[in-house]
Amino acid sequence: MGKIRKYIRCPHCGFTNYTQSKYCIRCNLKIEMNYISIQKSFAFLITALVFYIPANIYPILQSNKLFESYTNTIISGIFELWNDGDYPIAVIVFLASVLIPILKFIILFYLNISVKSCKYLSLKKKLYKFIEISGPWSLLDVFVVFILAALIHFQYVSVIPQKAAVYFLLMVVFTILSSMSFDERLIGANCE
Ligand SMILES: [Zn+2]
Repeated sequence: MGKIRKYIRCPHCGFTNYTQSKYCIRCNLKIEMNYISIQKSFAFLITALVFYIPANIYPILQSNKLFESYTNTIISGIFELWNDGDYPIAVIVFLASVLIPILKFIILFYLNISVKSCKYLSLKKKLYKFIEISGPWSLLDVFVVFILAALIHFQYVSVIPQKAAVYFLLMVVFTILSSMSFDERLIGANCE
């Protein structure tokens, strides 16, 4: 802190201001960087993490056959798909509902705790780009559950989403909120 920033991108119009002014030259809106955004991003991230626990503990799907019905958690569902020989679907569900969410948690956690550090600036900017670009795709996570449901549907009378699906959706929403509230201009803001 304390060092003078060389330039700052306007969050409203994208114009690069080479100025110490608090307002954008082009659109006149406030361009001051928002350190509160880190606290917000962190709070949303913790919330997402908390929702991810019941999302894995509780059943996500109930599968009904004619005379029997049983439930699956995300993990047991993946194992079942794998054991049934549905390898590509098992892998997609694993990627979308386990690996990618955990990867995003780790990246957002790292960005949040290291935002004021001047190390690995280009890596951090790339990581943020990855989070930003993959944002809309997070909804894939939710779709996967329903694609899964539809696929299993052929074998079963009905497939009903369970409690964990709600927690999973909340986890996705709070991960998106966390990445949206992270002001990426803070990365390297006080570095030469
Ligand atoms: Zn502007």
